[in-house]
Amino acid sequence: MQHMNDAILDYSPEHWALNRRSRKNHVIPWQPYDYINEKERTIDGVVEEVATIFLTNKECPFRCLMCDLWKNTTNEPVPDGAIPVQIQYALSLLSSSEHIKLYNSGNFFDSQAIPPADFPLIAKILDPFKTVVVESHPRFIGKNCIRFNEMLYPELHVAVGLETAHPGVLSKLNKSMVLKDFELAVNYLKKNDISVRTFILLNVPFLDESEGNSWAKRSIDFAFDVGVECCVVIPTRSGNGILDQLEANSLFFKSSLPSLENVIEYGIEQKRGRVFADLWDIETLSTCKRCAPQRVQRIRSMNFTQHISLPVECSFCKN
Ligand code: SF4
Ligand SMILES: [Zn+2]
Repeated sequence: MQHMNDAILDYSPEHWALNRRSRKNHVIPWQPYDYINEKERTIDGVVEEVATIFLTNKECPFRCLMCDLWKNTTNEPVPDGAIPVQIQYALSLLSSSEHIKLYNSGNFFDSQAIPPADFPLIAKILDPFKTVVVESHPRFIGKNCIRFNEMLYPELHVAVGLETAHPGVLSKLNKSMVLKDFELAVNYLKKNDISVRTFILLNVPFLDESEGNSWAKRSIDFAFDVGVECCVVIPTRSGNGILDQLEANSLFFKSSLPSLENVIEYGIEQKRGRVFADLWDIETLSTCKRCAPQRVQRIRSMNFTQHISLPVECSFCKN
């Protein structure tokens, strides 16, 4: 009889990702599905306010195994004009900020997601900001980025997800790219004076916690080698259906706060660019109630200072 783990690997990741999905959340095409103020350390070394807007738009055409962003997307493109309205809506409710992130659960330069006809108005709304960060898969990096950049007053930064530099795991993630695609996209953006940040998963599926930790570090090295300016390390979370299934079959392991601290320390020590930990839902990583608040505080502090803070010692969990 075939073992369950083998059975999972036999199916295409796309098959599994789609079949394990829950229903999407209800979203409104004229409203962003979320918006927050956060603080971030800038390239210039100061901590400033960022308005982060999670735009509602058509689902990304890729089917990455670990993705849960489809939950807040539409099935059809949103009408022309809806994206500028969403941005203005969020900005009217957020505190004033120096920087803005427009995250759209996919690719800003996918014309099915963000209508290019809206670029001029979006650019005008962004005039007061120093920098704007948008996200995109390498396959959508091209002339549209340059066109949009030429309309902008703020500096454009593009977030391109690397996820992992482990070639075998990257392929199993169904990311629809190889490492060379990532490198070419980064080169193209840099050649056109656009900064690149990347997302790196701390604990990718198919590796245990220790391998996940060391590949996250190798992924930071790879990202800086190809010219990325900023790495954001994201603890992979279950909850999208397929990762829960992989977890139940010991093919995915949740990471821990000490592992995240360790990877961030490594990245910062390299002094090759900014290295942040993604703090979204960070509480779900805590395995030890005694030291978790201090560890989260330590990670937050390292995000801001880009220096290694004093380690947390816990007699309870011995970490
Ligand atoms: S490219 Fe990004 S948004 Fe699209 S499926 Fe992959 S992780 Fe999700
Ligand atoms: Zn502890």
